[in-house]
Amino acid sequence: MDLVILGGRLVAPADAAEPVDVVIEGGRIAAVVPAGEAPAARRTLDASDAWVMPGFVDIQVHFRTPGATDSEDMASGAAGAAMGGVTACVIMPNTNPPIDTPDMVNEVLALADGVPCDIRTSAAITVGRAAERLADLAALYDEGVRVFTDDGDCVADDALMEAALAATVRLPGAVISQHAEDPAMVAGGVINAGAVAERLGLRGRPAEAEVSVVHRDIELARRTGGRYHVLHLSVAAAMDLVARAKRDGVAVTAEVTPQHLVLTEDDVERLGTTGKMNPPLRLADDVTALRQGIVDGSLDAVATDHAPHHPSLKERPLVDAPPGMIGVETMASVVWSELVASGQMTPARFVEVVSTAPARIAGIIDHGQPIAAGSPANVSVFDPAESWTVRAADLQSLSLNSPWTGRTLTGRVRHTVLAGRPVVANNDLCA
Ligand SMILES: [Zn+2]
Repeated sequence: MDLVILGGRLVAPADAAEPVDVVIEGGRIAAVVPAGEAPAARRTLDASDAWVMPGFVDIQVHFRTPGATDSEDMASGAAGAAMGGVTACVIMPNTNPPIDTPDMVNEVLALADGVPCDIRTSAAITVGRAAERLADLAALYDEGVRVFTDDGDCVADDALMEAALAATVRLPGAVISQHAEDPAMVAGGVINAGAVAERLGLRGRPAEAEVSVVHRDIELARRTGGRYHVLHLSVAAAMDLVARAKRDGVAVTAEVTPQHLVLTEDDVERLGTTGKMNPPLRLADDVTALRQGIVDGSLDAVATDHAPHHPSLKERPLVDAPPGMIGVETMASVVWSELVASGQMTPARFVEVVSTAPARIAGIIDHGQPIAAGSPANVSVFDPAESWTVRAADLQSLSLNSPWTGRTLTGRVRHTVLAGRPVVANNDLCA
């Protein structure tokens, strides 16, 4: 045997309370046996007092390749992912140049060769992300793309959005992912339209800009039968629209970021430019509703919108600094600390929202599978008791814009196994 993960616990089936050994051979899980009964292996990893979970899947990251590799590159982005227990990522296409052709897909994926995370790419909905005409979605689909998005920008044009959603009907498993902010309503907006923006004399980005786009898109998804996904949903009223559409049988899903589950517009003054992102940090009532929604299934998945920016860019004034926060390395620990350790979410639901559901939404079939014989060996071993204090400089990212700096989190990834090979062992990257 290649590898045995010794003495961990599984979140499912629900009666699996006893520790197990997970036996890995040839990149797959060969067997799950009672602890102490595994055959000898070339390598072992200790999982005592830890959960053995399917590797986490982050379906919204920006690794800035090509175009801004001083902010992040494939190696640094993937290293952070691995340290965070993330075995698969979907990168966004707002690179320079943008990812909008099969050739660009192949070029970008070649740059991710050999990194310690399985990198998948989305592709732009429109040529050059210019919102003028559709990219060749069928050709991109044939190249393996399943997620289409102009992220960074919203597809505001009704006809373009309808055509994109209609196209997914003929592309099984494809999804149109929207950055849902009406560009006219957020023009010049810096942070949430609210008390903090008023106090700081800044133009705001209103919640209604998100709600109106989500409403429009759901109606288009209903009419076309296309599959629709809301990126980084931030407003309670938008979540309510998604939940209602699901009950109506519309093919809609939504993700939420860790920061929108914890932070509010009030944190912007403390965080400075690190607290600036699009869509912005909202209100305490939104946070309360979104936390309930990710537990009860109104929201489907957690994704980070990991958005590194070189420190020099975030040193600009709030008005000029680019939006975004890093988060791929801290995602699991933040969600565990805030929701599972506090008793609001079960470990089984945690696995669903950070692994199973995002893999399903993005059409990634060899991740998010149960820890069982026959599954691909993409595994995260998570210690629920380890507490650690985040320091941006200690994270793998080339950028420092973590909103969690100084925060002590409960729960940490101990090992990460990618296709049967340890990429993180005992909190350290493997060579
Ligand atoms: Zn976005």
